[in-house]
Amino acid sequence: MGPGHTPRRPRHPIRLAQVSLLIASLTLLALGVAITLAAPFHSGLFPLTPSSLAQARPSATATAAPTPSATPSPTRTPTPSATPSPTPSPTATPTATPTRVPALFVPLPPRSEPNCGLTMIKGQLRTADALLNGVPVHVWWEGSDGVLSLPSGEDPTKPDGYWDVVLDTYAKPGRWYVAVIDPQTGEHLSPVVTVETEAEPCEPTSGGRQVITVDFVLQAGEAGRPGPTFTPSPTPTPTLTPTPYPTPDGQSRTVRVPILMYHYISAPPPGADRYRRDLSVPPDVFRAQMEYLKAQGYQTIALRDLVYALTRGTPLPPKPIVITFDDGYRDNYENAFPVLRELGFTGTFFVLTGPIDQNNPIYMSWDQLREMRAAGMEIGVHSRDHVELRGRSYEYLVWQILGASQAVERQLGFRPEVFSYPSGLYDRRTVEVLRSAHFWAAVTTRGGITHRTEELLTLKRVRVRGAWGVAELAQALAYWENADR
Ligand SMILES: [Zn+2]
Repeated sequence: MGPGHTPRRPRHPIRLAQVSLLIASLTLLALGVAITLAAPFHSGLFPLTPSSLAQARPSATATAAPTPSATPSPTRTPTPSATPSPTPSPTATPTATPTRVPALFVPLPPRSEPNCGLTMIKGQLRTADALLNGVPVHVWWEGSDGVLSLPSGEDPTKPDGYWDVVLDTYAKPGRWYVAVIDPQTGEHLSPVVTVETEAEPCEPTSGGRQVITVDFVLQAGEAGRPGPTFTPSPTPTPTLTPTPYPTPDGQSRTVRVPILMYHYISAPPPGADRYRRDLSVPPDVFRAQMEYLKAQGYQTIALRDLVYALTRGTPLPPKPIVITFDDGYRDNYENAFPVLRELGFTGTFFVLTGPIDQNNPIYMSWDQLREMRAAGMEIGVHSRDHVELRGRSYEYLVWQILGASQAVERQLGFRPEVFSYPSGLYDRRTVEVLRSAHFWAAVTTRGGITHRTEELLTLKRVRVRGAWGVAELAQALAYWENADR
């Protein structure tokens, strides 16, 4: 999957050159290049806000009484042309060009196909005869739940030239806003397009969704005169939980860190089959393995530290190691968490939000996870229901991935950054949805310890077998040290 999600780069210099010629404006050239160069890998400019997204499961009461007074609605009233142009981006005007307004992103009338279930906002940016890839847009929504805001245009290489945002807000009544932005400043480069949506409750599995298409056309304006609808952002960007995503510096790196994979930390029950036995590490063995790692000088890091190392070159401690736990079993809290804490270690726990929400006693509770998070443990997502994520529809993946992410966010107050594929299975679409849901990294069950910047969403791990003791763990680490270079 590596080539499918390399960091965003300006991929269409020829297309851009054509555009520039077309418009015959040096100003635009500077602007266009600046936009493309700065197209964010995974912009943290407009983070998904925690509480504003609807619960993933639609309920009959999902459409609470609207509180129209809660958020003043940004108007699309055209600003008079005398409005001073927004603060110039420093990179856009390196040659003291007086103004950059000749480039206008003019929105075409939005087209809405009301359906039900999920909502998708999509669009294209184009000139009269060419697609413009790599130009980010800002999409936000305002309704009875407040305001949510999120980046888009994340993949400038989509073959059809579309950017899109999929949300499982279940088409609540509210307004959508879309504008082309300068990725450096977040400032709007186009008029803000407004689309009204209405509630249409239905089950997400029905496959229906509301698709709203918002296209912009880049046109040349009259030199030196601001476009009549070049409006600044009507609302400040909400930043309820700004997650500092490490903006990649563009360098490709290789970092070698073992990521251990555990499941149950308990003795297998009597009569357990070989699969269950293989997934179960008894508490005393787990303790001995952790003490061994400690004695060998290993230092635990979170997966997010690995992300920083791969994308920014942030230094890691000597002998870094990540200790992960899949499925979120209650014995992780009872038998692993105390050992980790005692040794000054951290662990990464991938939870299934479905069973937690159902108070299934086999799994850790939200309260326990809250306590672990407060103690420095990293909490990630393992989907909602541990279903295979290959060959699934977009809607289903959003349900399982973004839905689980929102459950964690609702319960624990932060947006999870790391994901573990159930049974290690994924396909291209799974990875796409993970990226749309703002996950930074994902782990597979492929063996290995060498990680590359381009493979953040397909990280390798070292599976710890149920029959292993300390010696086997040591052997496995030594094996991968040589086998995966
Ligand atoms: Zn699992």
